[in-house]
Order: sequence, then C-alpha cells, then structure tokens
Amino acid sequence: MRDRQRQKVYDWENKSSWNGKGSDQLNEQQCLFIINNLNKIYKGMRVDTTFVNGDRRYAKCWNRVRHHEIELPRQWALCWSVVLHEYAHAISDSKKYKERPNRAIEPHGKEFVTAFCVLLHKFHPEHPSYKELSQSLRDANVDFEHMESSKFHKQIGRKTIKLTKAKENKDYDFNTSLLKLSPEGRKRTSAGDGHYKPKTKMNRVLCVLDYCIIFLYKDRPITYKQLEASFNKLPYLSDHYNKLIHKVLDKHGKLEPSLVKYMIKQGLIVATSTQNKG
Ligand SMILES: [Zn+2]
Repeated sequence: MRDRQRQKVYDWENKSSWNGKGSDQLNEQQCLFIINNLNKIYKGMRVDTTFVNGDRRYAKCWNRVRHHEIELPRQWALCWSVVLHEYAHAISDSKKYKERPNRAIEPHGKEFVTAFCVLLHKFHPEHPSYKELSQSLRDANVDFEHMESSKFHKQIGRKTIKLTKAKENKDYDFNTSLLKLSPEGRKRTSAGDGHYKPKTKMNRVLCVLDYCIIFLYKDRPITYKQLEASFNKLPYLSDHYNKLIHKVLDKHGKLEPSLVKYMIKQGLIVATSTQNKG
C-alpha cells in the first residue's frame, strides 16, 4: 500500500500550533488514560500502549489483527498530538469505523486525516475548529473528508476526556513492570531436588514464570502480559520440564493479575519498573 500523503501530513502537523512534540506535555500515565478513554468511546477498539526508549524518530501504531498497539518514544512523543495521531491510525484502520470495512486504506490517506482532525477538535486542549483544520489542510494540499459527518465524529457524541480525572492508576506500575522470581520465590518452586513442585496455585504461577524466563526468554524478566499469554499457550517442546509445565497449565489455564500482585507484595516476585531505563 502506498502512502502518498505521509510527508505532507507530517509537514502540516509540524507547523501547527497544536503540535506538542518534544514538549513533555503529558506523562506516561496520562497517555495511558487518554488511550484507555478512547477505547471506551470507540467501542470495540482495543488499543494497547507501550513506551520505548532510545533515539527513535517515529511513534507507531501496529495492527496486531485483534488489537492495535501504539508505541510511544518517551523522548519526544508524550503529547496530545502524537497520542491522537497514533489513535487515528487505529480507528481509521479498523473495520468497525471504516466506511468500507474491507477496503485497504493508505496509512496517511484522507480517512486517517479525517479521524485525526476529529480527535484533535474534540480532545486536544486547544480544540482547533473543523474550519481552521480544513483550511490549513487545503493550504497544505492534504486530502481529507467531511469531518462532522464522519463515523469518527458521530461516535464521540458529548463525551470528553478530562485529564484531571487521571488518578493514580494502581495497575500502572504493574502493567509496565518486568517480573522475575525473588530468591524466596525460587525456593518455593522446588523442594530441594530442582524439580517443580506446583502444588498450590501460587506455586503454579511461580513455576510457569520461572520456566518462561529460563527457557523461553533466555534469562530476561518478562511482563505480566507475556506471563499471561504463556498461561494461554506455551510452545510444546518435548523435554521433561515442558511436559510438567503443560500439566500445570492444564490444571490452571488462567492467570489473575490479583494473584501476581499479591505475590509481589509477599516478595515472591520482583517487579522492576521499566521507566527511566536506557
Ligand atoms: Zn502516522
């Protein structure tokens, strides 16, 4: 799929007053709050967020088939315009909100631009009007569709996103943390002979976590999501431990965040924040 408007859209965006790139307008928690609220407004959308470090030029919105994943570089992308830009990719690319669900669209084509402008007008603190957005787009020679009659506009109704309501999210650290076993947690997985003894629910979680880190992630701590995904499906290797782990999963195929949080509190699992790294 070609992306003929891409550079034009970037140029238009970069000279607009509402462009906040590099301004540290938002913190990570607020970005998550905005995206989670948009997920509620755009029913049926599941957009996840990850923050990445290092010298990256682009924020991204990945289409993961069943959900989208927005990737925000911490250095410059934590602002309204980037969050809304990436979310506009998700909704304009979604069957549910496309005018023609089965037709592929250009990533920065007119559907995307329309979705982006609706989000800017409705949610950006500057609330640029449709009139001024349309005019600046015409000046920049960027294609777009009528904003007010679009599905993107109609779906919002009277809903707003108030950042003042972005309270401390208790799950926030948990969701972005990397998990590994503490020495105490490691002791619990076996009773001295080095073999897993997954008798209790807690021990099952510890065994799976241990197994994932050692065998699947090559000694790297993993996120809750990776651990949760393992509870749905682990690749089958025919070694002793793998068979044992599969037995564990058969008995207990679901992972509750509350249990993992409890184990963090009990000191069996260590959760390391991924913030401020790199
Ligand atoms: Zn883009």
